Amino acid sequence: MNYPNLISSKLPNVGTTIFTIMSKLAADNNAINLSQGFPDFNCDSELIALVNKYMMEGKNQYAPMAGLMPLREVIADKIESLHQTRYNPETEITITAGGTQAIYTAISAIIRDGDEVIIFEPAYDCYQPAIEMNGGTTVYLQLKAPTYSIDWNQVKKVINHRTRMMIINTPHNPTGSILSTEDMQMLERITKNTDIVIISDEVYEHIIFDSQPHQSVSRFPKLAERSFIISSFGKTFHTTGWKMGYCVAPANLMAEFRKVHQFLVFCVNSPIQYALAEYMKDSNNYKGLNKFYQDKRDYFVSLIKNSRFEITPCGGTYFQLLNYKKLSKEKDTDYAIRLTKENGIASVPISVFYHEAVDNNVLRFCFAKKEETLEKAAEILNKI
Ligand code: GLN
Repeated sequence: MNYPNLISSKLPNVGTTIFTIMSKLAADNNAINLSQGFPDFNCDSELIALVNKYMMEGKNQYAPMAGLMPLREVIADKIESLHQTRYNPETEITITAGGTQAIYTAISAIIRDGDEVIIFEPAYDCYQPAIEMNGGTTVYLQLKAPTYSIDWNQVKKVINHRTRMMIINTPHNPTGSILSTEDMQMLERITKNTDIVIISDEVYEHIIFDSQPHQSVSRFPKLAERSFIISSFGKTFHTTGWKMGYCVAPANLMAEFRKVHQFLVFCVNSPIQYALAEYMKDSNNYKGLNKFYQDKRDYFVSLIKNSRFEITPCGGTYFQLLNYKKLSKEKDTDYAIRLTKENGIASVPISVFYHEAVDNNVLRFCFAKKEETLEKAAEILNKI
């Protein structure tokens, strides 16, 4: 079709996400797909039965704009029991269509032209486009490889009167690093007497290993008062395709969040909210997740420990980084494509999570997979 040139792109440098690209490449080449993060096993049949029950009962019309009250209540109870902070379900919790919508909504509610937002690279790929769609400027800081920790002195240096927001992420996608109490205390000190708003991306809150506590900003009152916390039911209940998540924030921030939310999606899937409200009453349905995924991490690592890939420690998430510098000098993007096409295993190259393609020869592999998938993957990796 011929068309007149009516627009200039608002996101000229944004292409298709790496998750879509690698999952398609995996499918086209019949490769084992450890690229995009999603489980290859089903969620609990009890949860499916609950969704079915509520659909049959006729809970198929709009939910309340901010989310179903019983679900917001069970979230408030969960946060209080885990982190000793009570959020008001009436005014401080909103159910969203996944973490990405919640992040976009929070950025959109706060960021104006010329505002600076600090993010840490490698950074999950939805942050920067959302900042720039809203007129903000992204300020990039690099996590220190190989531990991928935050250099707080660098943070201090870049903060200025235009700094409006900082986005943190623990457990961290794509690296699997986690923030410590000391990190949180530094963040508290650095943001004191500023009007910086924090987005704390905690979608992997229940996937953290080796008995480490999850450092939610909700544990730190001085951080909680300036933070949007983002979480995801998809990660916690093996239902990434349902696109369900939530956002928690103090009432004044949440009021602005809801102004955007109501015109972006208005509300989200009702029967699933009814089902989750009931399912989450049993805390065993999420408390066992750390062990469940730690066993998978340990199994995957034990299978590939004699391979020529170097294993980076993973403190949380369902991603394992592997360094291939002993195997190839290729760019990580080229190597990830070649592994998919020639060896039949798909991963995600880490350089794409940097604005200036920093390449440490590292690939991300998702271990949210059945044992047999991990075994097949390991067999391939061990032969390379
Ligand atoms: N969060 C998932 C990952 O990191 C991807 C989600 C998506 O495909 N947008 O792999």
